[in-house]
Amino acid sequence: MDIRSETTELLGRLGVRADRLAGGDLVVRSPVTGEQIAALKTISAGDAAAMIEEADAAFRAWRNVPAPKRGELVRLLGEELRAAKADLGRLVSIEVGKIPSEGLGEVQEMIDICDFAVGLSRQLYGLTIATERPGHRMMETWHPLGVVGVISAFNFPVAVWSWNAALALVCGNSVVWKPSEKTPLTALACQAIFARAAERAADVPNGLVQVLIGDGAIGEVLVDHPKVPLVSATGSTRMGRAVGPRLAKRFARAILELGGNNAGIVCPSADLDMAVRAIAFGAMGTAGQRCTTLRRLFVHDSVYDTLVPRLRKAYQSVSVGSPLETSALVGPLIDRVAFEGMQKALDAAKAEGGTVTGGERVDTGGAEAYYVRPALVEMPKQTGPVLEETFAPILYVMKYSELDQAIAEHNAVGAGLSSSIFTRDLMESERFLSAEGSDCGIANVNIGTSGAEIGGAFGGEKETGGGRESGSDAWRAYMRRATNTVNYSKALPLAQGVSFDID
Ligand code: NAD
Repeated sequence: MDIRSETTELLGRLGVRADRLAGGDLVVRSPVTGEQIAALKTISAGDAAAMIEEADAAFRAWRNVPAPKRGELVRLLGEELRAAKADLGRLVSIEVGKIPSEGLGEVQEMIDICDFAVGLSRQLYGLTIATERPGHRMMETWHPLGVVGVISAFNFPVAVWSWNAALALVCGNSVVWKPSEKTPLTALACQAIFARAAERAADVPNGLVQVLIGDGAIGEVLVDHPKVPLVSATGSTRMGRAVGPRLAKRFARAILELGGNNAGIVCPSADLDMAVRAIAFGAMGTAGQRCTTLRRLFVHDSVYDTLVPRLRKAYQSVSVGSPLETSALVGPLIDRVAFEGMQKALDAAKAEGGTVTGGERVDTGGAEAYYVRPALVEMPKQTGPVLEETFAPILYVMKYSELDQAIAEHNAVGAGLSSSIFTRDLMESERFLSAEGSDCGIANVNIGTSGAEIGGAFGGEKETGGGRESGSDAWRAYMRRATNTVNYSKALPLAQGVSFDID
């Protein structure tokens, strides 16, 4: 079966009607073959604003549904996702080019966050706080916030939505999602899956979850709308620079999940077998198109000549090819622009004295499919393109001799998402995790930079935007906190001993 027919058939099984897939202005191509697989209708700014109004009306009803009952909707969403896992995972592979285990893994992540959020729906705890006034009680109450806007990137087309939606829904909010214009089909599939869960649940108002099909301009409608108190935006730092100030201007909240330029440090005592495997997955997995992809590696000079030839061999032999037809570990880049960006970075690295292994186009899939051999670049210093995120499989490798110097170089870039150290020396690992160590939101020991679990809070510092999503107490960003003080005495003592006695 050709890829377009397979896409239509998969979407049909997932609950998206075929007539939505043709005759529109947004051409969707599969990076697997470069072929067109759909042409969707985009919405107008006016339609987007109307959908936000509808989501606001839905919020006003949903906030009064008890949180554990809201959790029941998310439990049903998890059930529907379990039933749809194979089809949705395959659709992720078609639309983004992920290898099957990563496509399915992304759907598993959605299921995991639903399970987490169901438990959370009974744990939206507030504190009771000691008060200085007799006969008083002070406490914190957490309330629903409103319409949560979600803007997502192409490379996690479904998981990022679910991280936000599962938490936002149990917290009593409605959700308006602007998916990447490169991956709208998986978004339509999620909408259909959610609709099935909503039909089975009680008290779900119409318009609780909306999907806006369109480009950055439609994203701006969400960013500027006064009835959207929180926008969770995932994408490039360039996008964050546009979105952040606009939200700040109207005092809306932002969860910004932006670009990464993640690094690892390989110390003298590292288990090199483990390091090679972790580096290979972190740097070449998902064709280098994860926000947490390993992009820079600092290797101690005592192990450099052992480790780097092994990495070079892995780069020369890793299988590159269609994620649908082969057992390749590296699938395609998303499009030609990504391929050109990679070649430009490699040229710049060479000009800075870099020695490149790999990086060439692999001729498979068709004229408009962009497969590349991942590139390992040995650099004399951290300069030029090493300082920026290029969203492609390029790993820059540099030597170091002192750990403090490696940590300083590690932190000397704009982004601050993920980091790792490979060592069996407790002093080195603790130093890396300390206040003087990695400045990233994620700091790992003896595992790679990518592949986070949903139980932890996910996000990064500096130009990565400072947002946190997913596990731990990330839910608090989706609610508003009220501090309540109750006086159950017959007196009115004022705080700080202030007196204000009127007759
Ligand atoms: P992108 O910035 O091109 O687009 C992301 C989303 O932002 C899209 O939906 C796009 O339509 C929207 N958008 C663009 N300009 C906008 C504007 N002015 N107003 C509102 N919306 C706008 O990113 P991409 O190419 O889809 O994804 C790759 C990037 O995303 C990489 O930089 C990667 O590191 C980052 N990313 C970060 C995380 C994270 O959690 N930190 C996760 C995944 C991807």
